[in-house]
Amino acid sequence: MAYNAVETITRKRDGGKLSDDQIRWLIDAYTKGAIADEQMSALAMAVYFQGLDDRELSTWMNAMIASGDSMSFKGLGRFAVDKHSTGGVGDKITLILAPLVAACGAAVPQLSGRGLGHTGGTLDKMEAISGWRADLTDAEMRAQLSDIGAVICAAGAGLCPADKKLYALRDVTGTVESIPLICASIMSKKIAEGASGLVLDVKVGSGAFMKTPERARELATRMVGLGKAAGVATVALLTDMSTPLGLTAGNALEVAEAVEVLAGGGPQDVIDITLALAREMLAMAGIAEDPAVVLASGQAMDVWRAMVRAQGGDPDAPLPVAAHCQDVIADTDGYVTSLDALAVGVASWRLGAGRARKEDPVQAGAGVKLHAKPGDRVAKGDALMTLYTDTPQRFTDALDALAGAVVIGDTPVAPRPMVIERIA
Ligand code: URA
Repeated sequence: MAYNAVETITRKRDGGKLSDDQIRWLIDAYTKGAIADEQMSALAMAVYFQGLDDRELSTWMNAMIASGDSMSFKGLGRFAVDKHSTGGVGDKITLILAPLVAACGAAVPQLSGRGLGHTGGTLDKMEAISGWRADLTDAEMRAQLSDIGAVICAAGAGLCPADKKLYALRDVTGTVESIPLICASIMSKKIAEGASGLVLDVKVGSGAFMKTPERARELATRMVGLGKAAGVATVALLTDMSTPLGLTAGNALEVAEAVEVLAGGGPQDVIDITLALAREMLAMAGIAEDPAVVLASGQAMDVWRAMVRAQGGDPDAPLPVAAHCQDVIADTDGYVTSLDALAVGVASWRLGAGRARKEDPVQAGAGVKLHAKPGDRVAKGDALMTLYTDTPQRFTDALDALAGAVVIGDTPVAPRPMVIERIA
């Protein structure tokens, strides 16, 4: 049955409930172009203010799944388990986690996206590797999963076309930060991807969509509910994103740091979150391996190299380095008491690591390398961080973003726990 778009908008605007049929009609009509962008924008804004209850959300998500193809990894011979991060600054975890969990025996299909705004995208990072190709056919993806156990690639155009259209619209209409719309967007793609297990890394703090644990908890609880109702084992970890993850933000810089962790080194916060997520994924898959032991053994590095090669990349090729760099200097002695994730993410973005519009190119070598994190002692004149870009005129805007981002005080602060809460 066809509904009236204006009546649907006004009903939600005034706090009413949409019927299941009405939601299915809406998503289908919007995907096919029968509802105009301006009407869907108004509806997204109404949902932003009025929300969706659990029934409406479940129907909305299922309608988005039904708008396109669904995949299945049954018959692979390995339990297929996926991880999704809600996005943060310096979040290179997927690059380590996918080969690590595959080295432990599960299959890890990581259908990933490009970055928009201050949070980086996994595909942009991987594309810093010479020759690496994000677009695989379904057959190539399945073959790689069965041979190597892990694949990071772009989602095919047929997966959740309703979300592709709606997400692009939300991005330009101030309606991204709606909990039900984020839940439906993420979970429709993850369920359509067909993994049997899903671990959600829900970031909390200045560099994340969710700035407070309360909002992050609500997002995680609703996503876990949607996953379980769809028959996918789903767990969420709330993790700290008040300060950048690791010591790098920016595509090639993050790949280098991920390789350092695979080689047995790297920053402790990156290792801790990777292992916490790996343990959740392996528990779902019924695999008893200890991921810390497998990481130390070098087997995850072997899978990484095989994964990169299988997609045309050269794991031994030097990573791109930006043509220009500039240090940010400490103006006093003391301890770093805070380092704002959002400021570093925006600086990295302005240096060229991210894009303002979907079609913009990114600079592989651009970004920020941190030399001190909260808790570290610094002396006046020390470099707190180094900024990298191919276009030095970008330094001024990046430095503006960093104004007040590093606070130096007299007393040391204890490191914050990386995993804040587990929601199952
Ligand atoms: N990531 C998504 O895929 N969708 C959202 O709505 C927000 C983050």
